Amino acid sequence: MKLSILGCYSATPRTLNNTTSQVLEINNHMFLIDCGEGTQVQLRKHKIKFNRIKHIFISHLHGDHFFGLVGLISTFRLLTRETDLHIYGPKGIKEIVVLQMKLADSWTNYNLYFHELTSKESELIYEDDKVEVHTIPLNHRIYTNGYLFKEKEGLRKLQMHAVEDANINVAYYRKLTQGFDVENEDGVLIKNESVTKSGVKPKSYAFCSDTMYKEDIVPIIKNADVLYHESTFLEEHAHLAVRTKHSTAKEAASIAKQANIETLILGHYSTRYGGIEAFKNEAEEVFEKVELAEDGKTFDFN
Ligand SMILES: [Zn+2]
Repeated sequence: MKLSILGCYSATPRTLNNTTSQVLEINNHMFLIDCGEGTQVQLRKHKIKFNRIKHIFISHLHGDHFFGLVGLISTFRLLTRETDLHIYGPKGIKEIVVLQMKLADSWTNYNLYFHELTSKESELIYEDDKVEVHTIPLNHRIYTNGYLFKEKEGLRKLQMHAVEDANINVAYYRKLTQGFDVENEDGVLIKNESVTKSGVKPKSYAFCSDTMYKEDIVPIIKNADVLYHESTFLEEHAHLAVRTKHSTAKEAASIAKQANIETLILGHYSTRYGGIEAFKNEAEEVFEKVELAEDGKTFDFN
């Protein structure tokens, strides 16, 4: 699992700061999460192949999270993309995109699918044999979802000595890796756990931006390996966090602690502060393993 931060600042793009966008590489998928202005330039800088992006997840319709979307869709067309593109986001996202394309008389030559979200409960919105994506309902000024990306349990590992001792026919090895009990050559049922071990631990990533402090999300993201949680403000501006429905670094850390997260990544910083180190310091008072998102930074979680 690998996370590339294309942009992680709030409000407006600046000379050195981009608005929210990131790419999560998980089980051969390249999921684009939010698409702030300038995302396609950042994708090029990261040498991410446009064609590998088949799913885009938009948290909410504030401009700093999706103003790059129409440009990206248009560029895909100019590059003569043929691969389907799926866009997940709040109801209204289709209307916004289609209106711009309609007035420009500019249509895609690939299939564009919109999956509009309205639920206030967490729901499963994407699934294949290796990965699941669930929404994380957040509390912001407009309808907003975070997203939880989860690898499914992989194949179990055979313990060869035990398998051979149990006298199991080779033809059943695959069933064993899939977790089934099987009969051995003597017709005795062999319990799967007695001859296999669990495979590689499945990884999970929770993206939560934008939101004010919301404890309700803790059960949804419980035990995730990595949590990206917005921290627009420091505690000294907690009153602004409440007013604008954002979080402080300390609040993000508190969520990470309650949810038993392994690594917390902070982002969506207000540009009012001189630097971002203070966010880390503040969060570390509550939670141990804190990382700072920075534009252009890549996190490898394998
Ligand atoms: Zn917002």
